[in-house]
Amino acid sequence: MKFSKRIKHITPSATIGVSNRAKQMVRNGIDVINLSIGEPDFKTPTVITDEAIEAIRTGKTSFYTPASGLDDLKQAAADRTNIDYGTNYSSDQISITCGAKTALYALMQVLVDPGDEVLMPKPSWVSYQEQVILAGGKPVMVETNDHFKISPETLDCVVNAHSKLLVINTPQNPTGTIYSSNELEDIGNWAVNHGIVIISDDIYGKLIYNNNRFYSPIQLGGRIAQSTILVNGVSKAYSMTGWRIGYIAGSTELISQVNSVLSHMTGNPATVSQYAAITALQSDQADVENMRQSFEDRLNTVYPLVNEIPGFEVAEKPQGAFYLFPKVIDAMRLVGVTSSEQLVACLLNEAHVAVVDGSAFGMPGYLRISYATSLNDLKIGITRIKAFMDQYL
Ligand code: PLP
Repeated sequence: MKFSKRIKHITPSATIGVSNRAKQMVRNGIDVINLSIGEPDFKTPTVITDEAIEAIRTGKTSFYTPASGLDDLKQAAADRTNIDYGTNYSSDQISITCGAKTALYALMQVLVDPGDEVLMPKPSWVSYQEQVILAGGKPVMVETNDHFKISPETLDCVVNAHSKLLVINTPQNPTGTIYSSNELEDIGNWAVNHGIVIISDDIYGKLIYNNNRFYSPIQLGGRIAQSTILVNGVSKAYSMTGWRIGYIAGSTELISQVNSVLSHMTGNPATVSQYAAITALQSDQADVENMRQSFEDRLNTVYPLVNEIPGFEVAEKPQGAFYLFPKVIDAMRLVGVTSSEQLVACLLNEAHVAVVDGSAFGMPGYLRISYATSLNDLKIGITRIKAFMDQYL
């Protein structure tokens, strides 16, 4: 079969790949601790699942909704955004998508022409690069400082006439870094001055720890807010990864183009999931706070433990999301491997702990540990990694 030229340049998602390998090992009877996936281990709150069951029972299943989502869900997403950010979106400025992943994919289809460059921090979430390539564009990774943050100075090093979009993800996957409002303002002003549109992926925006404060470019008002498209969703904050609901907030002009793409791409996200998401976004958010608190406890427990593993270094405690991104160059040297990919393979095959190679995020020499799993499993997983590394001391 002759595949498209495009597809030859695509690498399958490394995070999904390693997690599938770990799950297969578990099916084969091997006791693997999976610290690879960005999937909260909590059950979706009952108030949300009850709504979905009610939707099934009352037959809200046998019709297509508009491709852009149910009007009530668009209104709920606009209201939630306006409450959380102090913005003023109306429902016709919202598109509902099959997860934030599809939101980002549709945006790349709408905004990127062949040859356009899309800037993103190094490291960044695995799918940005591939989605840009699938749209015919060129992903450009922007160097970050010791805190894994980009700045106008590092952006200046890569900007050119083809630069079109800048993806900001705060808190950032895989590092858990958040940007201050001053830092976002500097980056936002830089983007406005260069005529570059910002996509702000706020999927982890509700998962902020230890009294740190979250800011999004859409809160900065004026030209920065006008140049920013918001991507968000219910997967991470409401423990709803399997329901596949995300959304975009932007100008009505943009949203109508996105809706046109979605109408040929996904049709509507599952109707039942949409009813569940209305409840999630309209609920009192107490469940979100309980889950956030659990993630905070886990972070505070595992952060020092990971730094005790020989050859692992997380210089700064992450402020959000649910990942640690240790530098493992010393660990590679101790074990006698030349890449973090090999180290990740050793950890899976010998210590039976699944983590993700930093190369997938554009940063070899690092690996990503997800703490979206029980404290018990986290402690076992980290103890195993430490025992594995201790052998080489
Ligand atoms: N953006 C980032 C930074 C992510 O880490 C993920 C999922 O891991 C997504 C978007 C996609 O989330 P969703 O489950 O809503 O598609």
